[in-house]
Amino acid sequence: MSEEAVSDIIREILELKGEREAVILAHNYQRADVQEIADFRGDSLGLARLAASTDAKVIVFCGVFFMAETANILSPDKITLLPDLDAGCPLADTIRAEDVRKLREENPGVPVVTYVNSSAAVKAESDFCCTSGNAVEVVRSVSSERIIFTPDRNLGEYVRKATGKEIIAWDGCCPVHDRITADEIGELLDRHPGAVFVAHPECRPEVLRLAHEVASTEGIYGFANRTAAREIIVGSEEGMLFRLRRENPDKTFYFPPGGSLCPNMKLITLKKVLRSLRGLEPRVEVPEDTRVRALRAVERMISLG
Ligand code: SF4
Repeated sequence: MSEEAVSDIIREILELKGEREAVILAHNYQRADVQEIADFRGDSLGLARLAASTDAKVIVFCGVFFMAETANILSPDKITLLPDLDAGCPLADTIRAEDVRKLREENPGVPVVTYVNSSAAVKAESDFCCTSGNAVEVVRSVSSERIIFTPDRNLGEYVRKATGKEIIAWDGCCPVHDRITADEIGELLDRHPGAVFVAHPECRPEVLRLAHEVASTEGIYGFANRTAAREIIVGSEEGMLFRLRRENPDKTFYFPPGGSLCPNMKLITLKKVLRSLRGLEPRVEVPEDTRVRALRAVERMISLG
């Protein structure tokens, strides 16, 4: 697409955004050009909070399906748009509501903590929701010493180590983070002896063992801003580079050479954002009974943010 065509698309997006009283939220893993036009960029928790507090009538969610669902759970009176309904999350898709019910039957009385990367139906079956940023805090705050944790096994293992509680983890994973190997990170550390390594807790335990810091996506930005190191190896999705470079122009960032790109996150494009604002669709609407049940777990996550 020519630069002129891109400018035309951006101009129309901005015009329509005003007319529709819309706000554009973009997850940190989105394409750089989509992040550029967003009103706010952030992680799941930050964007959920913004969705809850905005006065806008329309939320254009540039992220994946469960994120738009979470926005709708918190703001049912607003129109929630997801510019491409195929933008799903393979991690969220590993578990269904009936799987959670079965886990409860097998472990009577054990509370369920569910990572925000899950469907509204799964959240509705859970007692608490959490993000990668507050999973440890949420699990600590639950009075039980045994916890059912869904759907990410790597985050579950990280929480087990941090809290010392017995974690009954669902065997799901994020294919983007789970693919990162300790060998490739070890090679990067050998090649850049002055570099520090910061990793997302969706990475495997053997990768997290090499990390100087384990942090959520927002935590990774904070770490990159405050570390004195000039070279930083990032164990997370490559879309983070947009903000990392913008906030730290004097630092160099390395990502796993085997790739860490989430194709689902990249399905949202400027053209789709425009189409979505023009037609006010596709919309994401969580059925009211599911929404009300999921809201309780999500509100607990937000209050412990
Ligand atoms: S990066 Fe992983 S958890 Fe995030 S949307 Fe992609 S597959 Fe899901």
